Amino acid sequence: MKTPFNLKNLIRPNILELKPYSSARDEFNQGQETMMFLDANENPFDTGLNRYPDPQQRILKKEIEKHKGVSENNMLLGNGSDEVLDLLFRAFCRPGKDNIITLPPTYGMYGVLAAINDIENRKVLLTKDFQPDVPSILQQVDAKSKLLFLCSPNNPTGTVFSETAITQLVTSFNGLVIIDEAYIDFSETESWSKKLNQYPNLVITQTLSKAYGLAGIRLGICYASEEIITVLNSIKPPYNINTLTQEKVISQLQNIKKIKTEINLITKEKNTLLKVLVELNFVIKVIPSETNFILCEVDNANKRYDQLIEEGIVVRNRSKEPLCNNTLRFTIGTPEENKRLIAILKNLK
Ligand SMILES: *Cc1c(COP(=O)(O)O)cnc(C)c1O
Repeated sequence: MKTPFNLKNLIRPNILELKPYSSARDEFNQGQETMMFLDANENPFDTGLNRYPDPQQRILKKEIEKHKGVSENNMLLGNGSDEVLDLLFRAFCRPGKDNIITLPPTYGMYGVLAAINDIENRKVLLTKDFQPDVPSILQQVDAKSKLLFLCSPNNPTGTVFSETAITQLVTSFNGLVIIDEAYIDFSETESWSKKLNQYPNLVITQTLSKAYGLAGIRLGICYASEEIITVLNSIKPPYNINTLTQEKVISQLQNIKKIKTEINLITKEKNTLLKVLVELNFVIKVIPSETNFILCEVDNANKRYDQLIEEGIVVRNRSKEPLCNNTLRFTIGTPEENKRLIAILKNLK
């Protein structure tokens, strides 16, 4: 039996004792028109942006709560989900001492953040059908294993991890299990955010960079227990989500119908591309994807990559990743782009 989960045992001692920075806008709520704000050394002349943003992003979180069905109390926003991931390292991993577990082939940032923070990255390969190898993962775990990263749907494979495997890991691992759901909006599977109440060690990250068409504004979302959110809030930069980003997301979420239409269109184009790829003679294997990209194995990835560059098309060569020899990753473009890509692929010699 595993010991009961206790967050206090996971937090770095210095973070546990931290007295967070209190910004002027933390001490007093914004939006009170009648008040005169002479507390934050801002320029008083109105530019629409002369005031610091709301450090707690209250209005924005309420909007996200409406769309995603997760309480704002279980939510932390980051400058992209990459910032959220970095906060997790800095809150829980002691440099030079602790370790994390990642499951290659997967998103490269986990390893980069581990290296930046001087944290050992214990890599446990996915199985041949791109599922977590649960026994091998649990074998790698020790008392200093703080974070386990599960990317589902996974980048670069596009595949979803089985509910059974994830459940086994969340219930057996005593550190935090982070499920990176950057591509969840393209998937048929339900978000794990619905199960937050069941698992105190569950952390979910999502992003507006992929399905929501807002990679340029940098907004990532983290869902977790209130206890975990409080820790992350205590170390985040006070004004990490700028005013333009907050306003743009609020207005974009009013267009949710348009976003859903785009997601459907991207999915349709993905299926079109998939059908073409499987028929091509230089394509060896196409991996079914629950994302907005397709990973496929070809006869010679470097050659095909260069041929596409010649045609002015940039794809991602993932051949250096384990289990991904001779693979290319195609992001799904507009119907026009997809049409052109398909025409070119069919003509490659
Ligand atoms: C693109 C991507 C992200 C990056 O999200 P940002 O919010 O843009 O920082 C995170 N995780 C995975 C798996 C991704 O593919």
